[in-house]
Amino acid sequence: MKKDQRAPLRTHCDFCSNGEKICETLDKAGVPADGRWRTLMLYMRGMQEYEFLPDQQKARLQSLVLDTLRRQDFSEESYRAILRTKQEIIHESTQLHLQSALQKTARLVNEFGELLMKRKQEVERLGNKAVSLIASEEYDPEDLVGRIRSSFQDVVTAMEKDASHLSELSRTDSLTGIANRRVFDEELAEACFVWSTLGHPFSLIMLDIDHFKHFNDTYGHRIGDQALTTVASLLKEYGKQFEAESESPFIPARYGGEEFAVILPGAALDDAMDAAEAILGKIRTYGFIIRDAGGAVIDRNIRLTVSAGVAEALPEWTGNIAERVLDAADKALYTAKREGRNRARQYIEGMM
Ligand code: GH3
Ligand code: MG
Ligand code: MG
Repeated sequence: MKKDQRAPLRTHCDFCSNGEKICETLDKAGVPADGRWRTLMLYMRGMQEYEFLPDQQKARLQSLVLDTLRRQDFSEESYRAILRTKQEIIHESTQLHLQSALQKTARLVNEFGELLMKRKQEVERLGNKAVSLIASEEYDPEDLVGRIRSSFQDVVTAMEKDASHLSELSRTDSLTGIANRRVFDEELAEACFVWSTLGHPFSLIMLDIDHFKHFNDTYGHRIGDQALTTVASLLKEYGKQFEAESESPFIPARYGGEEFAVILPGAALDDAMDAAEAILGKIRTYGFIIRDAGGAVIDRNIRLTVSAGVAEALPEWTGNIAERVLDAADKALYTAKREGRNRARQYIEGMM
């Protein structure tokens, strides 16, 4: 081998710092000494530190890197394919959130527009009625004022109903009909406040449907939506039973995507674990029915499983309790996923 064909002797490398020989690691992994490939690999590696990325997305990015190293395909085609896949992984959840936020906004604007038109017509009718009564010159002023006042009251009552209907819409998840993320955030803040002032126990359950991407890939998004609605109904149904038995609140919400959360003010960890196990049991034994767009049954007895992370706010905790309990339940959920899914795990101090 000629001298100039050998891997260059490294005297300095901008990537290496704090004694970490990154270039050597990349050499060993077979990554070519090409700035673009090295930058891409380090960038992907750095993403593991991004706090805004969910663990599952990080794991998918990591397996993308590992897969590339295994295949040792450092062609231009492979480079572009990795960039494409990386973009898809990173933007998937953002796009879903954006889509659902846009749908919700459009629905609210439509409702609002329709209500405004309806009320506008009622106010116009009220005006016409008053004018025609006055024009008829057969009116008794007292009677006229009474009638206008009562019609006016009807319009005000209807408008109050509209306002409460709109407020209800903005608090409900449009797909599943349970509380949305906004309500969840408010309820969680409230539960934390009560916990810190009264010192009653308080727990949180985070639920995530297992392999839901595969479910969607198998049955399609529309069926996936039906399954989400059914899971929410099962959650609500169990909530009623829980409240009747324990006499403490059960506050379910759609946290986002295929994730649900249950706030349990008044429940200690053991009770919350029992509730999580019961929910998981209810879902895993439910036979989901798949229907075509016309409503005809295509398949029945389809099974879905869910993993759960459970955490109780600990008395020694300080700072932002909502964030801490969420973080703790999330870690427990991640453990449940890692240990095989279809199970509930509770948060233990120091859990990663
Ligand atoms: P894991 O067991 O690790 O949770 O795997 P997973 O496939 O459930 O998790 P991943 O995060 O890879 O995928 C979540 C899937 O949930 C991808 C997305 O398409 C689907 N999803 C999220 N929101 C909705 C929705 O509103 N409707 C439908 N049909 N699917 C959704
Ligand atoms: Mg998820
Ligand atoms: Mg999932």
